[in-house]
Amino acid sequence: MRITMIGSGYVGLVSGACFADFGHDVICFDKDEAKITALHEGRIPIFEPGLDHLVASNVAAGRLSFTTQAADALADPDAIFIAVGTPSRRGDGHADLSYVYGAAAEIAPFLKRFTVVVDKSTVPVGTGDEVERIIRETNPDADFAVISNPEFLREGAAIDDFKRPDRVVIGGDDRRALDVMRQIYRPLVIGRSPVIEMSRRGAELTKYAGNAFLATKITFINEIADLCEKVGADVHEVARGIGLDNRIGAKFLHPGPGFGGSCFPKDTLALLKTAQDYEAPQRIVETVVAVNDSRKRAMGRKVIQAMGGEVRGKTIAVLGLTFKQNTDDMRDSPAIAIIETLQDAGAEIHAHDPEGMEQAKLVLRDVTYFGNAYDTMAGADALVFITEWDAFRALDLARIKSLLKTPVMIDLRNLYPRDLVEDAGFSYTAVGR
Ligand code: NAD
Repeated sequence: MRITMIGSGYVGLVSGACFADFGHDVICFDKDEAKITALHEGRIPIFEPGLDHLVASNVAAGRLSFTTQAADALADPDAIFIAVGTPSRRGDGHADLSYVYGAAAEIAPFLKRFTVVVDKSTVPVGTGDEVERIIRETNPDADFAVISNPEFLREGAAIDDFKRPDRVVIGGDDRRALDVMRQIYRPLVIGRSPVIEMSRRGAELTKYAGNAFLATKITFINEIADLCEKVGADVHEVARGIGLDNRIGAKFLHPGPGFGGSCFPKDTLALLKTAQDYEAPQRIVETVVAVNDSRKRAMGRKVIQAMGGEVRGKTIAVLGLTFKQNTDDMRDSPAIAIIETLQDAGAEIHAHDPEGMEQAKLVLRDVTYFGNAYDTMAGADALVFITEWDAFRALDLARIKSLLKTPVMIDLRNLYPRDLVEDAGFSYTAVGR
């Protein structure tokens, strides 16, 4: 199959490279010249484990190419995937669909034979109808069908998620389009991933319902963690105790500083906006959003409390800035609200992240960055872990103690066993333990 990806970000580039790896002929299109230039030069514009090799081998095999030219990208594809951003619209939290609609308008004049237009971006219910309308308005003779195919990959594990997904969701009812989609995803069916077909609106809503449910699960265990602290229980014991129940499941029951990232915050808000528009209030999700928002700054206050209630003039070493490990993505990272809370209280921030510092510099101000974990903590009054990078899990506690001015550790990801840290002479604060 000949596939065009519109948008070559986390989703477009990973999906494009994986489709090429299955043997399809893929061209990735992006308006961002710097991104495409980097890809032409063999550099990957984002950090995603394994993506560099996957891209290089498929470029070498002649199955994957990149362009900034719509005419090249849209010459004669069987399917065009829209994988552009759908950030929160400033002000009301609705998904900003201007990139999706812009892509639809761009595609329209190039459609010369039957083509499947696939919406892979996360979009509110009814967006497929509007994409169809835009294309038809611009090119009334076009022979096409719009399919919804939401993406469920996780940054940091994106290639494996894409190639071995729990399921693939395809929404639409055009038989020719469904046939093209089945051919595109056939390699996954052989790998036994279920491909489920449903209505286009059902597929659009499935993505939001899935993310809202996962955000709810995280928020639930975070609140249980708060209760554990009050009653003297260990949240990890409780999480294991409930997670072994198949009806609940063990995943997404790890407490922390609140969810962030490029999807959960904006997708929960967008679901609430849709719910308002259709007068079907989603009270649970409303609460999840509110609880999670207040949690991030509360984590900043937790750090202040662990440091004796006063941080003015003190230096705090922060390890981990990205919203989770194995990505350079800073979008809505809890680190932003936590660091700003500490700065508002007068603290100076020294920070390190294995991959996220370039992105962090774009969103945080007045932070001093260091090239490794130990340099970050030299002379600091406390050490705070915000992201659960593997590289932070087995640091030398004796060395940390000798570097810090005072041995205070605040572990917002529960990376260390309390006994180990306290035996090494630290004051230790964790989440829900
Ligand atoms: P991204 O910002 O990394 O990439 C989007 C790309 O689209 C950018 O490079 C941008 O330059 C390009 N673009 C925008 N308009 C364009 C146009 N008209 N023509 C060509 N290129 C254009 O975004 P992302 O993280 O890849 O997310 C894309 C979509 O996938 C979003 O709707 C998101 O919610 C969804 N999604 C993301 C993830 C994730 O983990 N990042 C997972 C599942 C779903």
